[in-house]
Amino acid sequence: MYWERVTEEIFVFTSERYALVNAVAFLTQSGVVVIDGLPFPDEARTIARFLEAQGGGRFSTIFLTHYHMDHVYGLHAFPSHLDVISSRRCREMLLEVGERSLEEARRHDPQFEEVTLRIPTITFEEALTVETPDKHFRLMPLPGHTPDNIGIFYEEERILVAGDAMMAIPIIADGDWREEIETLQRIKKLAPETIIQGHGEVVLRGEVQHVIDRYIAYLECIEGEARKVLRKGQPRESIRDIPLERCGLERVPLGIASHALHTANILRIYDTLKEEAEGTAE
Ligand SMILES: [Zn+2]
Repeated sequence: MYWERVTEEIFVFTSERYALVNAVAFLTQSGVVVIDGLPFPDEARTIARFLEAQGGGRFSTIFLTHYHMDHVYGLHAFPSHLDVISSRRCREMLLEVGERSLEEARRHDPQFEEVTLRIPTITFEEALTVETPDKHFRLMPLPGHTPDNIGIFYEEERILVAGDAMMAIPIIADGDWREEIETLQRIKKLAPETIIQGHGEVVLRGEVQHVIDRYIAYLECIEGEARKVLRKGQPRESIRDIPLERCGLERVPLGIASHALHTANILRIYDTLKEEAEGTAE
């Protein structure tokens, strides 16, 4: 795990052991605001100890961007009295699948024995503003990667913590690519100065618009690839041969099987388009 300081009061923690997933912390006058936790208990404990020292022992709130386990598990390391704020959908999804996937994780790796799920205690649907004496956080739905994903916009410095709406390879295999394109367009219009992605590097001033355009172009490109396979009646399996580079992204920005993530994206689009075509043919 490594960490960087985005400003004097904002830290980003990155797990090299799991897809460069990020956790974020803001030092505020009401204590530390934590956004997401890293998946592994030892990393989570290190972060919690570090932030306890940085914040003089005071924590304020936890924000959770979405229900995926690589963002949820580490929250167990923070004081249990803290509220966890998320979208309503995120809470529902955690209640639905959370315990089951945690059991599964424990079966594969006993280190997850010490994890207990933090179920969100405050939820919202359209928008929510959370204030500390010195900072304003605007929470907003940013669906697409998953239906429950939210962003946290820190107004004073125009920094967006985007959850997995922004990641080094957009992943929509568990979501909806059309929704993700709309979300990216919305982020573009919001015009943040800095974006802290769910996975991968912080996107800095000057790169923001360009990176978003590249992600949108990638999603449009893979939709085109899925349509091509459908139109030509090629076998579904042929999608596994479509290289990532064809859609303008490079391999391994996440240090994991980027080709597999990429083809899972196209398979998802292919299946959705096929279903829609069959639905209208009836
Ligand atoms: Zn995710």
